[in-house]
Amino acid sequence: MKILFVFLLGVSSLKAQTLVEIGSKADGLVIELRYTTADNYFKTAFYPRHAPALLRPKTAAKLALVQAELKSQGLGLKIWDAYRPLSVQRTMWRTLPDARFVADPVKGGRHNRGAALDATLVDAQGVERRMPTAHDDFSEKAGAHFNLLRPEAFKNREKLQQVMTKHGFALFESEWWHFDDADWERYEALDVPFETAEVPDARLMCGDGGWGER
Ligand SMILES: [Zn+2]
Repeated sequence: MKILFVFLLGVSSLKAQTLVEIGSKADGLVIELRYTTADNYFKTAFYPRHAPALLRPKTAAKLALVQAELKSQGLGLKIWDAYRPLSVQRTMWRTLPDARFVADPVKGGRHNRGAALDATLVDAQGVERRMPTAHDDFSEKAGAHFNLLRPEAFKNREKLQQVMTKHGFALFESEWWHFDDADWERYEALDVPFETAEVPDARLMCGDGGWGER
């Protein structure tokens, strides 16, 4: 098992510096990182084509509980974004320097901490459910509490928000798809490139079908 430790930042907690991959081995979880291709708002592939979806171990453990609960209801998550290196954040900020939508790289965003993700709901076949907007739709309609919606989109967004908050994630006011680990402040922003991030599969760390820390 290879574990990524970031010594360069000089922080005291090595454990807190570990990232784990949230892989498709998790039952029903769909990974489709939007920045691995140019099919996104920025029309730019910021990530390498096969960049893994990475999170802090405890954040991944919370996500596993969300996925398990949704699966029991014939639903699941599709992950659009997770950990994002600070260097990518700087590039995004140059393209869209608006803190409502892109975290200022000087402060470091929650994606940079491996403690946030962008996600939507899918059915048991992995097909996206109707939601208020597409990913990175920077309109009023994308707000976490914007309610002038078709009933189906409203119901699906409510379901996603209800399950995510139940398991320790916080909503983000301007983007219905973005969720922060409620404990994100524990973690520091990282600039580990995807190419060098050799990390254990979160599933393998647990061995009993769920994610967790060992
Ligand atoms: Zn996000």
